[in-house]
Amino acid sequence: AAKAEQRNTVRVFEPALLHARRLQGQMITELREAIRTDQLVLYYQPVVELGSGRVEGAEALVRWNHPERGLLMPDKFIPLAEETGLIVDLGDWVLREALRQLRTWLDTPGLVDDFSMRVNISPTELRSLELIERVREALNAASVDASKLVIELTESVAVNGSDLDRYSLSGLRHLGVQLEIDDFGTGYSSISYLRNLPVHVVKIDRSLIQGLGTDDGQRDFVAAVLQLIHACGMAAVAEGIETAEQAAELSWLGCASGQGYYFSRPVPPEDFVRLLGRS
Ligand code: C2E
Ligand code: MG
Ligand code: MG
Ligand code: MG
Repeated sequence: AAKAEQRNTVRVFEPALLHARRLQGQMITELREAIRTDQLVLYYQPVVELGSGRVEGAEALVRWNHPERGLLMPDKFIPLAEETGLIVDLGDWVLREALRQLRTWLDTPGLVDDFSMRVNISPTELRSLELIERVREALNAASVDASKLVIELTESVAVNGSDLDRYSLSGLRHLGVQLEIDDFGTGYSSISYLRNLPVHVVKIDRSLIQGLGTDDGQRDFVAAVLQLIHACGMAAVAEGIETAEQAAELSWLGCASGQGYYFSRPVPPEDFVRLLGRS
């Protein structure tokens, strides 16, 4: 009890900033441990061919199964991982686990056909010099063909487009993986940047999809965005589809693929397999 009291006393007088730092320090140690001891888990959200309803792939989304705090969402730990450089080890784990899972699904007779896995890569990871080698190794380890992997990058890569980013992008392209710009429409990338980016797919951000199905102006706007993407020779995916109207409108506008709660929330692998059975 004396010990507990002492701790409380310290808390009261400890300046808030110091306290926050200490908590952050603790979390860094815990996250490092989490990566090492497999406390991270991947959930999968289906990507659907809008014309047919077929599940054409999955996006792997990381969660942290924290021993005391329960299942933590990525916004609770990805920013910290990026600040501390832990994102490189975390990203490596995600890549390997997602490809291992894909291998298992590909090996299950009749389960998936013409199916790809999407993995998110943060800007810090893209700037890590070993990224290309790590991706190559992860593909080899799982014996997965590079064309079945889609790497999702944020728009900031397009905006800040440094030489190193370009080097990484062209290296990944050479491996044969598909590159995708995630959350398109939230950043500040100019139209000409999009045209010159060596990416295959553009994922339209949820914020642009939200007004669809109720707002005619928004429909015209999304139609123009789709035209822009197609004019750049790229394929479009829509994220954040929550209603049947939105799915129908996007399909009608010529958007090939989509994902969102309307089809399914991100789910653990066991549930994803069940979902495939239904599609
Ligand atoms: P993101 O890549 O744009 O992923 C989409 C996010 O939107 C996911 O949140 C997903 O659960 C959510 N979402 C999907 N459909 C809907 C919908 O219809 N409505 C709404 N309201 N939300 C929907 P989540 O899983 O919390 O991930 C958040 C972000 O964390 C991701 O955004 C991505 O930027 C990052 N992230 C997740 N996993 C990883 C990872 O393995 N590595 C890295 N570097 N970042 C990751
Ligand atoms: Mg993504
Ligand atoms: Mg996204
Ligand atoms: Mg988004």
